[in-house]
Amino acid sequence: MGSYPEVVERAIEELSNLPGIGRKSAERIVFYLLDRPRESAKKLASAIYYMREKVRFCEVCNNFSQDNLCPICSSDARDRTMLCVVEQPSDVAVIEKAGIYKGLYYVLLGSVSPLDGPGKNSGLNLGKLASMLKRFPIREVIIATDADTDGEMTALYVQEFLNDHELDIFRIGMGLPVGANIEYMDATTIAKALQCRVKMRL
Ligand SMILES: [Zn+2]
Repeated sequence: MGSYPEVVERAIEELSNLPGIGRKSAERIVFYLLDRPRESAKKLASAIYYMREKVRFCEVCNNFSQDNLCPICSSDARDRTMLCVVEQPSDVAVIEKAGIYKGLYYVLLGSVSPLDGPGKNSGLNLGKLASMLKRFPIREVIIATDADTDGEMTALYVQEFLNDHELDIFRIGMGLPVGANIEYMDATTIAKALQCRVKMRL
């Protein structure tokens, strides 16, 4: 297809299959690697290979982990009375980066869609969530699924599942993004922000 040797073409094709990487970017990466010592391409290839071989889901919370238990579930420093429910392991990484939450997580590995139709027919496996509630003295749950239709539906589904337990259940706050001007916000965001208002004088 191109004028490159077959092995180069193959590398470009594999790279352009990755999210966010088009053929142009793939070519740039390949040229960069060809310009570097062989060792750097080898390091990259082996890092990707071992990452894929070693990483699995934590057997307790479904977060990415190298061991049976992820570093968060096995840490004594975490607040084991708090649980944050998210859709994907990447959500854990983002919340951790904020540095404010010190509790545990439960990763759903998906969401419920209204297109799935009515009833409790989601593919979500909440069995592990029930085990977590037995394993840890959890008293508070924050449901931090996305603020879109699927995320809202998933939040309701999880809330229903948790209703039988003695827990304080919260939905993550939604509203104005930091730095936003009210005049440019859409009505749904404003409505959410008003619902999630915070008392200034206690
Ligand atoms: Zn874990």
